[in-house]
Amino acid sequence: MSSKSKFKNVKGTRDILPEEAIRWQKIENIIRKKMEQYNFQEVRFPTFEATDLFRKSTGESTDIVRKEMFTFEDMGGRSLTLKPEGTPSVVRMFLQHGLFNKGALQKFYYIERMFRQERPQKGRYREFRQFGAEVIGSSSAESDVELVKSALDIFNELDIKDVELNINSIGCPRCRKNFIKEFKGFLKEKLSGLCEDCNRRYAENPMRILDCKRDKKKIKGAPVPSDFLCDECKEHFEEFKNRLDFLNIKFNIDNRLVRGLDYYTKTVFEFVNSNLGSQNEVGGGGRYDELIKFMGGEDTPASGYAVGIDRLMLLLKEEEEKLGVDVYIVTFDEESDAEGWKILNGLRDAGFSCDKDPMRRTVKAQFREADRQNAKWVIIIGEDERKRGIVQLKNMGKGEQKEIPMKTGKIVKELKC
Ligand code: AMP
Repeated sequence: MSSKSKFKNVKGTRDILPEEAIRWQKIENIIRKKMEQYNFQEVRFPTFEATDLFRKSTGESTDIVRKEMFTFEDMGGRSLTLKPEGTPSVVRMFLQHGLFNKGALQKFYYIERMFRQERPQKGRYREFRQFGAEVIGSSSAESDVELVKSALDIFNELDIKDVELNINSIGCPRCRKNFIKEFKGFLKEKLSGLCEDCNRRYAENPMRILDCKRDKKKIKGAPVPSDFLCDECKEHFEEFKNRLDFLNIKFNIDNRLVRGLDYYTKTVFEFVNSNLGSQNEVGGGGRYDELIKFMGGEDTPASGYAVGIDRLMLLLKEEEEKLGVDVYIVTFDEESDAEGWKILNGLRDAGFSCDKDPMRRTVKAQFREADRQNAKWVIIIGEDERKRGIVQLKNMGKGEQKEIPMKTGKIVKELKC
């Protein structure tokens, strides 16, 4: 068959075809299993939210809010945005539904689609999938380590190797003030040589200048937030590192790591894998002790992370995933087909994956389909079988064929042997 359709998926979006979907399911199953082992509870949230939610929480000066959001007006003139990240929605839900009344500590995870208008390239899409975890209510470095470990466990279980962990502490707003003062002083003379973005950041969020790939060399020797940590932040970071050590989790301290979102405090971390090329970040996160209060809640410490599932897909070993059914039913004539249809439904009710050709095509075409579906067994029914009240049950792996009474119960018994 050929197609003259002019319709294509939109730039930066991806179709997931059946074989690939099997791999997605595998990843999602592992995420769910691990998250449950860590006692994180799943939440799901809407595809779009009020634009202000992201402006206020993700932060006006971030790249996401400034240039990447898919924002539109609804018919009532309200500004809405397709969610570019998960934490603001989780915090909104936590506050809106009074989840804080359920206990001092809440642990959530999500698997959601995100939307950002970035320039598409390998590993960078406009619609992508993330899983994320958030611990709300704990100020302890133990929680930060728990988060890191949960992500590493998932990479491990997926057999994704070479993931490096980079960590840093960017301090609390109190100690960060001292850093910003020094940093701005350091930058003052260099500002005219820095890029346009850094010049804007200088006024809005100078710490992000440390993150700039273009100006990296020009700000060599600049002060870094970790030089200015107050005692509490210092202790917190020490504890974070000690606990990582205790679990034998290797890490690099990157004192320029600041992450792209405005709400982070103290611990920040990222997972990178050099096999991904320029988009080498698999995931990242950090502590956001000020965000919940800022969004109208009580003073509540929290931390979390997000991992890009599309990037995990790129790192998964290329294994050929096969479509598969347990049983495929091949019938020779109309009456046999009616019997086959009854057995089909009976086997499905009994929990087997089972299929047959609804269009009664030739026997040859039906066998071809059984092959394509990698059927473990094929049930064959023709006039002779009907008259004798049996079906032929072929075990495709062993190549053996048996006659079984034409009764779903008997067939199920045989299949379970
Ligand atoms: P962020 O929410 O920016 O901290 O990103 C967390 C993770 O989501 C990144 O490390 C990536 O793995 C993934 N990610 C972010 N943006 C994209 C994108 N445009 N396309 C695919 N994955 C992305």
